[in-house]
Amino acid sequence: MSRWFAPGRINLIGEHTDYNDGFVLPLALPMGCATTVAAADARWTVVSAQEDGEVVVTPSGLSGRDDVPDWATYVLGALWLLHDDGVDVPPLRIEVDSDVPVGAGLSSSAALVCSVVCALDEQLGLDLGSDGLLALSRRVENDAVGAPTGGMDQLASLRGEAGHALFCDMRDLTSQSVPFDPAAAGLTLLVADTRAPHRHADGEYAARRRGCEQAAEALGVAALRDVADADLDDALARLDDEELQRYVRHVVTEDARVLEAVDVLRAGRVDDLGPLLTASHASMRDDFQITVPEVDTAVEALLGAGALGARMTGGGFGGCVIGLVPQDSVDAAGDAVRRAFAESGFGEPTVFTATAAAGARPA
Ligand code: ADP
Ligand code: MG
Repeated sequence: MSRWFAPGRINLIGEHTDYNDGFVLPLALPMGCATTVAAADARWTVVSAQEDGEVVVTPSGLSGRDDVPDWATYVLGALWLLHDDGVDVPPLRIEVDSDVPVGAGLSSSAALVCSVVCALDEQLGLDLGSDGLLALSRRVENDAVGAPTGGMDQLASLRGEAGHALFCDMRDLTSQSVPFDPAAAGLTLLVADTRAPHRHADGEYAARRRGCEQAAEALGVAALRDVADADLDDALARLDDEELQRYVRHVVTEDARVLEAVDVLRAGRVDDLGPLLTASHASMRDDFQITVPEVDTAVEALLGAGALGARMTGGGFGGCVIGLVPQDSVDAAGDAVRRAFAESGFGEPTVFTATAAAGARPA
């Protein structure tokens, strides 16, 4: 039997840059998913503490897969893909239990998938190594589930380090830990889960992705990461579509903000992260246009309550907002968000503090 834990994540900064071969700076959360894999007599059985009933299937590859509830594809995906890779996967029972809220932008899916992949790696003696674990986790979401995610979530969940954010280059998938210790600067990372329903998130995500690809092609670069911040005005002048201009401006300035955030954290100047967070939010709101009234309201409330900076985190159209808040203002900042939501007639948000925790580990 093997048992692994993998965390959810918050993206500190770098939104919609991952599929543009750019930079992101996520951190692993204390909350996550624990997965137990054990030998069984026959077939593959999957159980989630957050779902009713057991899912039992006959071992197969991706093309021969049984029809299962959507959630079970996040677990069985790894088994189907390993089968296709020629691994003789024996009968197994897989149990998962997670405290990451689903669909809040904290990557419950990566916590689930990465804990399953790590537990399978040990149970089956696969010895996939860091790159292999990442590759299989990404294929589960991309190929088995069919979610066109960019890979940041799995990187953070697998490689996060306590007390650090993870600076990732999404072109070559390399990562470096960067110290992130807001408490040492008298600050707290506050998270407000707006619980706003994701409106058209999938279609809008795909549209942004397509727009970025079109813009890169029009500019003659492999990806928008190749447009330097210094060349932004030139690039914008070469595009005549106003929408594509906005997309390019967001991605290019966001990449630059991630690099600056890394410099700031390496220099131990956590408070200087604040303006970068707020600038990132303005860029997502005005240029990339992926925010909704709930997240804009939460950001305004946090800033009004003394946050040094605040932004939506995650793919957008709902989800969570983060704020860098002085420790003595944490309660007031949470109250401000709740009050603003009540005044706007929004549902009650969940507010909690977050620290940078370790990535996937035996449980
Ligand atoms: P996010 O990763 O932002 O939370 P996603 O839509 O990417 O949102 O992934 C959420 C999906 O992952 C859920 O709808 C469910 O299918 C699956 N999932 C996550 N956690 C669990 C769990 N503990 N048990 C079963 N399925 C889960
Ligand atoms: Mg996800």
